[in-house]
Amino acid sequence: AQISNPLPTADLQALDAAHHMHPFTHGAALGAKGARIITRAEGCWLTDSEGNRILDGMAGLWCVNLGYGRQELVDAATRQMSELPFYNTFFQTSHAPAIQLAARLAELAPGDLNHVFFAGSGSEANDTNLRMVRTYWELKGQPARKAVISRWNAYHGSSVGSGSLGGMKGMHAQGGMPIPDIHHIDQPNWWAEGGDLSPEEFGLERAKQLEAKIQELGPENVAAFIAEPLQGAGGVIVPPESYWPEVMRIVREYGILLIADEVICGFGRTGNWFGSQTLGIQPDIMTIAKGLSSGYLPIGGSIVSSEIARVIGDAEFNHGYTYSGHPVAAAVALENLRILDEEGIITRVREEIGPYLKEKFESLTEHPMVGEASIVGMMGSIALTPDKARRAAFRGEEGQIGLMTRERCFANNLVMRHVGDRMIISPPLVISKDEVDVLIARAWKSLDEAM
Ligand code: PLP
Repeated sequence: AQISNPLPTADLQALDAAHHMHPFTHGAALGAKGARIITRAEGCWLTDSEGNRILDGMAGLWCVNLGYGRQELVDAATRQMSELPFYNTFFQTSHAPAIQLAARLAELAPGDLNHVFFAGSGSEANDTNLRMVRTYWELKGQPARKAVISRWNAYHGSSVGSGSLGGMKGMHAQGGMPIPDIHHIDQPNWWAEGGDLSPEEFGLERAKQLEAKIQELGPENVAAFIAEPLQGAGGVIVPPESYWPEVMRIVREYGILLIADEVICGFGRTGNWFGSQTLGIQPDIMTIAKGLSSGYLPIGGSIVSSEIARVIGDAEFNHGYTYSGHPVAAAVALENLRILDEEGIITRVREEIGPYLKEKFESLTEHPMVGEASIVGMMGSIALTPDKARRAAFRGEEGQIGLMTRERCFANNLVMRHVGDRMIISPPLVISKDEVDVLIARAWKSLDEAM
C-alpha cells in the first residue's frame, strides 16, 4: 500500500530545515533549497514526495546491496522483533541471531578470521579496532606498540577515534582530531598525484611510504596499518597493481597488524564476499557494516583472527556497545547473507553485471570532460578534467564541477555522488542491464549539462 506523506512537501522541508541537523550538510544550503524528501523505494528506484522516480546509483550510502523492498528481510525483522526484540551479549548472555551471524561470518571470511565483535556501525567497529589492536599488543607484553598508520583521504568513520583514523582533513579541522598516535601516509591515487611516474612505479612508491613511516616511528612502536582495499568515500581510488603486494610484504616483515576496512568493499561489492579477496590482501582484522544488512538495520563489527581473539580472550576487554549483536539487526543480516548466497548475487557481480557495468561505465571516458574511469565490481568513479592528456584538475574551483554534475544528475533523477572532481557510482548489486543503460545515459546527459 502507498504510504502517504504526513504533511505537504513544503511543510516537511520547512520543519526539516528548522529542526533536523543533517550529517555532512551545510545548514544554510538546506534552508535555501530544501531537502528532497524520499518517501519509498523498490529495487534500485527511490520515489520522492512529488512522485518522481529516481535511480539510486549509490545504493543509499553504498549499503543497500540487495536493493530496496526485500520482503524476506522485513519478515526476518518482524519475526525477531516479536520473539526477542532486544537482549544484550554482555556478562555471559547470548542469543541465537548473534551466535549464528558470527558463525556464518567466520565461514565466509578469508583465512583464520574466525571471531566477530559486533558494533552498531562502521565507525564504532573501527573504534573497537583501535582499542583492540593496542590492547592486543599490551597483552602480548609490547605496550609501546600504540601507533596506528592510516592514509590521507581514507574514510573510516565519523566518531573521534574512527575520524582520526580517517584521513579527511576537513574532518580533522573540527573537534580535536586526530587523537595522538595516529599517523597518515599518502594515498595511492595515481590520477591526481602520480606525476610522471607510471602507475606501477607510483604504486610501489606509495607502498614504500608505509615502510618509511614504520622506520621513522620505530617498528617496536607500531601496532597496525588500516586501509580500505579500495578507498570508497575518498573517490573510489583503485590502487595500481603494485601497491597491495608491497604493502603485504611490509606489514609481514615488520610484524604489524593489518586492518582491512571492508565497510564498503564487503558483501559482494567488488565481486567477492570481501574486497580483500579481490585485491589479494590477507588482513588480521576486517571492519564490516553497511552491506552486512544491506542497510535495512544498523549493524557493524570486526572480524578478527583466531590469534587476536585468543590473546584478547585472555583478559576482560572493557569495551562494548548496548547494541553489539542486536538480535533484530543480526537476524536481518543473516537473512541478507542467505539471499546474497542463494541467489548467486555475488557471482553475478563477478561474472555478469559487473563486467557489463564496467564496459558501459568506461564508455563515459569518451565524454570530453571525463579523463579516466576506475571501476571494480560495482563501485566506480570517473575523474572530471579540463585536459585529459595532462590529467589536469579544474583550477580554483576544486569540487565545483563535481558538485554541479551531481546536481544535474539529481535533477535528471539519478543519484550519483561527487568527491572533489570525481563522480562516483555504487549501485545496488541487483541492478539490471537495462537499469545500467539508464544510469549511463543519465550520467552522460548530466555531464553535458554541467560542462
Ligand atoms: N569505513 C568505511 C570504509 C566507510 O565507507 C564508512 C562509511 O561510509 C565507515 C567506515 C563508517 O561507517 P558508519 O557510517 O556506519 O559509521
